[in-house]
Amino acid sequence: MKVFNTLSRKKEEFVPLEPGKVRMYVCGPTVYNFIHIGNARPMIVFDTVRRYFEYKGYDVNYVSNFTDVDDKIIKKAVEEGVDASVISERYIAECKKDMEGMNVKPATTHPLATQEIHGMITMIETLIEKGYAYRAEDGTVYYRTRKFKDYGKLSHKNLEDLQAGHREIKVVGDKEDDLDFVLWKPKKEGEPFWESPWCNGRPGWHIECSVMAKHYLGDEIDIHAGGEDLIFPHHENEIAQSEAANDREFSKYWMHNAFLNIDNRKMSKSLGNFFTVREISEKYDLQVLRFFMLSAHYRSPLNFSAELMEASKNGLVRILTAVERLGELLSSASDRELTEEEKEVQNQIKELVEKYEAAMEDDFNTADAISAVFEMVKLANTSVKEESSRALVEYVKDTVETLCDVLGIITETKEELLDAEIEALIEERQQARKDKNFARADEIRDTLAEKGILLKDTREGVKWTRA
Ligand code: AMP
Ligand code: ZN
Repeated sequence: MKVFNTLSRKKEEFVPLEPGKVRMYVCGPTVYNFIHIGNARPMIVFDTVRRYFEYKGYDVNYVSNFTDVDDKIIKKAVEEGVDASVISERYIAECKKDMEGMNVKPATTHPLATQEIHGMITMIETLIEKGYAYRAEDGTVYYRTRKFKDYGKLSHKNLEDLQAGHREIKVVGDKEDDLDFVLWKPKKEGEPFWESPWCNGRPGWHIECSVMAKHYLGDEIDIHAGGEDLIFPHHENEIAQSEAANDREFSKYWMHNAFLNIDNRKMSKSLGNFFTVREISEKYDLQVLRFFMLSAHYRSPLNFSAELMEASKNGLVRILTAVERLGELLSSASDRELTEEEKEVQNQIKELVEKYEAAMEDDFNTADAISAVFEMVKLANTSVKEESSRALVEYVKDTVETLCDVLGIITETKEELLDAEIEALIEERQQARKDKNFARADEIRDTLAEKGILLKDTREGVKWTRA
């Protein structure tokens, strides 16, 4: 399996540190608002990477954090007059709902930065002892960037270029060098803080991920991932911290997704040109969003547009309709041996599975993998018929479903009740009540509740809403 490694800027053969296991860390969102569809891209992409490893039989330990202490969270808490934890807990819960809608599996562990402060203090102490960090007069602790010889190896920047970029900036306070970055900073009035040997304060962002990765995955991990904006400085600084503290190569492979754009401009909260996942869910099933994200290679920029979403919806419907048809054919399929012709169809399906796997093994080319699924659907539509044997129908259906599942596409169609069906059930329930058949009346209420239909008795009769 080939993985493009940002460190070497090459596709490399994937060799796990421990046979059969993958330890992977994906930087998660800062939780001060609903996530936007740009944030959804790494979630969907790396969930698919995880699913493919699992399909290949690997045991994946997948860790993805929530950054729950940050200036933006504090600002929002001040605006609302609540504790920062109220904001972060609210948006973690909302983020998890969006993840479920996009069929992103929960991580093995979702650590919270605020629960890992102890480990951060320990790592900072180690860095100070080794001379990689120092405390400034006001209690801030800085990383001594120039001391780490490999600094710049991930972003392929050298210290001179970085220095040139800083030329205009004066060294502030008692920071030794412009390039030094913050590991721990003193609290400001009204901010959450923790006690430490240096001052009451809070950690810098980069140390959080170094520590959470170490805690849940160990000193050496297989894959570290996130959006390409994180390469510098976030991931570069994580490497400097972890490798100086642990004396090991931190991560073997670094994977970065390209940005999701809108009108060919970067989608970001600061530019204000973004959609939240929740907004999209009002118009589309989030499965469509997932399918759209996977329609491009993860290292290619992807432009969000209504046309592309419509095209994704149509593509998805084509697959789901084919699977539904195969399900119907199963009921009439005959139990007999495969004919020669059917064996040929089976072979063609096997070739398409190989094509799909070859695409995924080439640095997770989901766009080509989806093409293989479309070819399979086309073959199923033309070559699997009413008179086909059960063995063939089952084989084709299971194969399409398995390959879709690796992409996180749910092939079972949700059985939604139509308005007319709901009204008929409500009428039947009213009649059952009149007949004093309360068991049936309750049963109908429960059936409706399971489908998310809420009933309310009013003076004008029974009203219903979808939950
Ligand atoms: P943040 O909450 O800004 O730290 O972002 C969380 C994750 O979303 C990081 O991996 C970012 O790189 C990623 N991300 C943010 N905006 C975009 C975008 N427009 N396209 C792709 N990834 C993004
Ligand atoms: Zn991170």
